[in-house]
Amino acid sequence: MAYVHDFGEGDASRRDLLGGKGAGLAEMTQLGLAVPPGFTITTEACREFMATGQVPDGLWAEVDRAMARLESASGRTFGKGPQPLLISVRSGAAFSMPGMMDTILNLGINDQVVTELGAWSGDEHFAWDAYRRFAQMYGEVVLGVDERHFQEVLEDLRAGRRAASDADLTTKDLQHACRRFQTIINGRSGQPLPPDPEMQLREAITAVFASWGNERAFRYRRLHDIPDHLGTAANIQMMVFGDLGTNSGTGVCFTRDPGSGERRPYGDYLPRAQGEDVVAGIRNTLTLDELAPLHPACHEQLLAVMEGLEKHFRDMCDIEFTIERDRLWILQTRAGKRTAGAAVRIAVDMAEEGLISRREAVNRVDPASLEQLERPRIDDNARPMPLATGVAASPGAASGRAVFDADRADAMARDGEKLILVRAETTPEDIHGMAAAQGILTSQGGKTSHAAVVARGMGKPAVTGAAAMRVDANAKVAHIDGVTIREGDVITIDGTTGRIFNGLAPMVEPRPIDQLEQLLAWADEIRSLGVRANADTVADAKKARAAGAEGIGLARTEHMFMGERLRIVQRIILSDDPAERAAALQDLMHQQVEDFQGLLVAMDGLPVIIRLLDPPLHEFLPSRFELEQEMVQRLRLGREIADLERMSAQVARWEEDNPMLGLRGVRLGLIVSDLYRMQTQAALEAVTRQLRAGADPKLEIMIPLVVTVEELVRMRAMIEEEIRRKEAETGLQLHVLIGTMIELPRAALTAGEIAGAADFFSFGTNDLTQMTYGLSRDDAEALFLRQYLEEGLLEHNPFQTLDRQGVGRLIKVAVKEGREANPGLEVGVCGEHGGDPASIAFCRESGLDYVSASPPRVRVARLAAAQAELSGDTGSPVDR
Ligand code: PEP
Ligand code: MG
Repeated sequence: MAYVHDFGEGDASRRDLLGGKGAGLAEMTQLGLAVPPGFTITTEACREFMATGQVPDGLWAEVDRAMARLESASGRTFGKGPQPLLISVRSGAAFSMPGMMDTILNLGINDQVVTELGAWSGDEHFAWDAYRRFAQMYGEVVLGVDERHFQEVLEDLRAGRRAASDADLTTKDLQHACRRFQTIINGRSGQPLPPDPEMQLREAITAVFASWGNERAFRYRRLHDIPDHLGTAANIQMMVFGDLGTNSGTGVCFTRDPGSGERRPYGDYLPRAQGEDVVAGIRNTLTLDELAPLHPACHEQLLAVMEGLEKHFRDMCDIEFTIERDRLWILQTRAGKRTAGAAVRIAVDMAEEGLISRREAVNRVDPASLEQLERPRIDDNARPMPLATGVAASPGAASGRAVFDADRADAMARDGEKLILVRAETTPEDIHGMAAAQGILTSQGGKTSHAAVVARGMGKPAVTGAAAMRVDANAKVAHIDGVTIREGDVITIDGTTGRIFNGLAPMVEPRPIDQLEQLLAWADEIRSLGVRANADTVADAKKARAAGAEGIGLARTEHMFMGERLRIVQRIILSDDPAERAAALQDLMHQQVEDFQGLLVAMDGLPVIIRLLDPPLHEFLPSRFELEQEMVQRLRLGREIADLERMSAQVARWEEDNPMLGLRGVRLGLIVSDLYRMQTQAALEAVTRQLRAGADPKLEIMIPLVVTVEELVRMRAMIEEEIRRKEAETGLQLHVLIGTMIELPRAALTAGEIAGAADFFSFGTNDLTQMTYGLSRDDAEALFLRQYLEEGLLEHNPFQTLDRQGVGRLIKVAVKEGREANPGLEVGVCGEHGGDPASIAFCRESGLDYVSASPPRVRVARLAAAQAELSGDTGSPVDR
């Protein structure tokens, strides 16, 4: 099999082999666009390199032949004048990993070629600038010299000329820089910058393959679930020059607005620059409208290319282009990264324009991203005064403590701090700090800079290009307009408008995206899996219903016992005095009737599962330590402590070493039996009131932590007794389902028996995961799970994404045996996994009736359930 393919040979269907960039270049070449010629070395070659540490046999011979073809296609010569061929060597994996791996530009230059290049271009300044860029990139990427050393030389030269950017340096400066760079490379790496272009090329290709294994690429893959074994392709392409005089430049454009999704071309253009300058955001860019008067023909041509590519790929495309001496070249295309809101808008608009089908539209939006649509924005009615305004790079508002370095951000986030990462610009080295922060603020860059692209991908607010801000990362301060922001100071950024505020700015709940309900309506037509919500309050229930929840899958009653009510529960559990207990129970019952009726009203006509109390007892009872401290204080004041002593003794009676494995759920319901009876009575009273009001209450009562069928049989008998009593008292017919959670492995394995006493099962996958793994859900994530994930001991956090092999197997057994014993059994999931797209796909596969998710994830679940139905249909034809 050939490792090398000319751009003219391939097409977009071969992205596994050619990588995204290679596939896009091949496809565009086939379309006849003005793509500089070149070839792709396949991911297969990289995989062999990873396995053996050597490039495959015969690769260099193939590369030599491809270079000969490239010379004849370009009419230029590699390593020689009079028309020297310079090339770029770029990585390009099957999945887009912006800026994560290495690129080398202007390869093929040396002390002779630079002179020939100057003569050919008639621009010595350009030739020497190309050389110094090459030396810098090659030194860094291939020979591992810290970029800082090159930057120091450039800074000195800029300071000497009082120059704002490298473009203002003189030819002499650039010649000096090239010599200095060669000395630095020699000194730091022990090797010279190789003058032989062939050697440059081989070393560069090897370095690109090796960059697949670098730390930042590894981190990026972890964050985006990209498998490590895929490898990257390498693309070798004739250089075209955006920095060849004033009638050249380079840019990035999107066929629709990547921020809002609006159907209008959008882009950044930088005159007299190479591509890296745009992405790095070193200078401020022009818009496409501003490009039009500079290069009217190229502008018109570019718009036509954009339209053609969008039609061809049937998706919003991101296109890199260069204008070399008034001639347009297209360098790259891929599916454009977009905000969550833009993704929704683009998918629905494209379906309505007839460009894609509704099913494709449903598949085009990442369900998890819908959560960010619910992000807060700044409350402008409060007229907050911004300190400064930068580029609105990724929407949403965020507040947090300023932090100036990624490692520090990572550490502070582990302590639970909310943070804004403040940098001059971000690089791939900052990725973990960006992941740790709530928002990103940079003084440089535009909408396509690294900070902007990565923040959009992560779904975090970002403001870039805040030119009024000066960042001193070493001193951990930023200065904006006379205000000094130090590490730990709270700031707010608004990525929707680009504003920056000192302190906490007032925020409001977000407004929905107009097209979202349309997309979700299409999703609802497709999905078979039901979606309910976990809600314990009327406000949450209303929010969930508005988001499309088809009922409550879990109302945790222990969440209703805060503050004063907690003390009532404590009295019920601890008191020896029957009269005191009875009074406390009555008291609580009245309050519970109100609680339950509120939920039934909010979900009228839809099922509401009320789970009887499942208190973590250690959280519900007073702490003996605190009681003892109070005793000490009272003794100091000479006051009576008998009541505290009594309480402390009572608490001691209930204390457990492993509360998670102790008196929880139904166990407490059996031991303190009047608690569950009281809750049942309250729920039935709430139903009665609703029926009398002419409403349609659909109550389901659920018993937690059942492990033997006998527990459920007893509870069922108690509940049925209460139902009969209530029916006799009111003359009403009460239709109430009685079911159980399946959250212990034994319950899952004996589901056939348990189903005989249950109308429904709801998998409590939080506990089921905890109990199956023997991992404490309260402790493991903070203590060691992160390390397990980083070291690849676990592929996913099982508390976030359901473990198919273990926990999933228990679920499958329980569904099968439960339904065999009781064909009418209703089955759902109410653990956190009910809102996680990958877990939702598993739930559908396993034949569950519904998932229950937290209210902000109800829309996520609706879309994910539809996508689970469509699994097998492909996503975007361009990318992903
Ligand atoms: C569960 O265990 O998955 C569940 C939903 O119950 P809780 O989280 O309240 O223990
Ligand atoms: Mg549980």
